[in-house]
This record gives sequence, C-alpha cells and structure tokens, in this order.
Amino acid sequence: MKYNESVFLRAENIITDRRVRALTEYESRKQSVSDKYPEIKALNDKIENAINEITDVIELRRDNTAELIERIGKENLEAQKTRKKLLSAFGYPEDYLDIPYTCKKCKDSGLVEGIRCGCFDEVLKKCAVTELTKNCAIELKSFDDFSLEYYEGDDRNTMQQNLDICKRYASKFTTKSPSLFLIGETGLGKTLLSSAIAKVVLSNGFSVAFDNISEFLRKIENEHFGRSAGDTLELLTTVDLVILDDLGSEFPSSFTQSAIYSIINTRLGRGLPTIISTNFTFDELRNVYNNRIISRIEGQFEHLDFKGEDVRLQKNNK
Ligand SMILES: [Zn+2]
Repeated sequence: MKYNESVFLRAENIITDRRVRALTEYESRKQSVSDKYPEIKALNDKIENAINEITDVIELRRDNTAELIERIGKENLEAQKTRKKLLSAFGYPEDYLDIPYTCKKCKDSGLVEGIRCGCFDEVLKKCAVTELTKNCAIELKSFDDFSLEYYEGDDRNTMQQNLDICKRYASKFTTKSPSLFLIGETGLGKTLLSSAIAKVVLSNGFSVAFDNISEFLRKIENEHFGRSAGDTLELLTTVDLVILDDLGSEFPSSFTQSAIYSIINTRLGRGLPTIISTNFTFDELRNVYNNRIISRIEGQFEHLDFKGEDVRLQKNNK
C-alpha cells in the first residue's frame, strides 16, 4: 500500500503522541505513588538505575562481567515483583507502574526490530481514509435525524424495519458483518441511514470510507492515469467498511465498471463488508452494469428495500 507524505506524517504524529502520553501518564503515576510510599520509591529508583549499573559494569571490563550483568538482571526482576506486590497491597492494580503504552509490542515507537509494527499500519490506514474522505460532501447524520412521520401504512412498517436493521448493524458492526444493498427511489433516506451507520461505526474505532461513488471513481481514475498521487482503489479494498453512495450516479464506462467490480469482488473475497445504495431498480441496474457486478450484489448482499414518497419533496411542500 502506497501512502502519500502527509498521511505518513499524520500517522507518525499520532504514534508519537501516544508515546508521549504514555510516558507522561507513567511519570505522574510514579510521582504520586513515590510521594505516598517511600518503599515503592526505593524500588522505582533501583529499577530505573539498573541500566546505569549495567553500563558501569561493561565499562569496567572485569573478568566476571557476564556474571555481574546476570545478577543485576535477576535483582531487577525481583524488585519488579516486589513492587507489584506492594502496589496490590496498597490498593493499586499491580501493573500500575508499567508504562501504559497503547501498543506493548513496539512501545508506541511504531517499529519492531526496524519493521513497521501492526499498530502503525492501522493508524496509517485510518489517516489515509481520513485524507480520502476529508472533502466528502455528505454530512454525517445520526439515527435521530431519521423520522418515520414521512412514511405511511406498509411503507412505514418497512422503513421501521430498515431503521432497526441499520441501527443494529451499526452498533454490532465488525469487519465480518454482512454487506448491505439499500435500494429504492430518491429521497427515501438511504444516504441518511448509511451516513448514520458510518457515524456509529467510526465512533467505535473502525475505519470507514464513505462518499458518493462517483467521487471515489473520479479519484481512482485520476490516480490510474497519473493525474494525482495515492492509491484509492487499494484503500477501498482494505478499509473496515466502505459505503458507496448512489450507485448509478457515476459516468458509466468500462473503466468505472471494472473499478466497481474490483472493489466489490475483492472485499467479498476478503470477507470485508460494503454498503451500496442506489436509486435504480434492478432492471435499470441490469441495463447498465455487467452481469458480474449484478450477480455479486444479488447473491452476496443483504437487500433493504426503501419505500415511500420522496421525503425532501414532502418537506419542501410543507
Ligand atoms: Zn505497535
């Protein structure tokens, strides 16, 4: 995956912030515990001094250097154990004076033995998605913005079910969730409900790419023909959730067809969920899209039919 420089810098800043926050938190915990309990302060000093002791031993170049280093190591471990016991006895969690890194593997450095840590990859992906959707024209709404008063009779029942399904989908979202296909005429709340899903899923810490499908395709096309940097196609096949709003609004071409197929098919293959919405009927879709796209959507997406009268028109006529 290629990342542009601003994405990389932003990700590095996030990792550095994590490290600084962990160390600051550790220092303040250490200070407050040391002030209250001198016996823990003595252990803290001993543990922190171990590295100096080892340096001194190495510099002295005695015959028994290895033995001395081993002894310092053992004493240090003992001191850590005793400190844990004391912390517990004084009512703290026993790991209270371990530095509270977000990632214990790389200690919030972003690197393990010179190789990028998984936590850094996660942050990079999130930053790339933020960059990708920063100009998204669609405002993220919440489920409370959706009102059933604009739907009547059977339509209202259907829309109530759709609302419930979308709410449940959002709150229980994992990267193994199914893919959804929201289909129905314009102005029935498809974009609103998918943006509400995006909002909840984002707030639960997942990466979400949400935009009008034609915006994504425009970026993919520009990158493909070297007119701009980035790898939107790759990103859209790896992000936790992709929401392609308004399928059918894009300019139809063999390029867009193949990009759409590639996004849908790769994500299905990886077991990653996608949400697609469209104002088209299935007959209209069949006229525009090749069979490979239609068969994936028909067979492997859960379908939600949106019913009713255009809500925007109803609001305007009020
Ligand atoms: Zn890490």
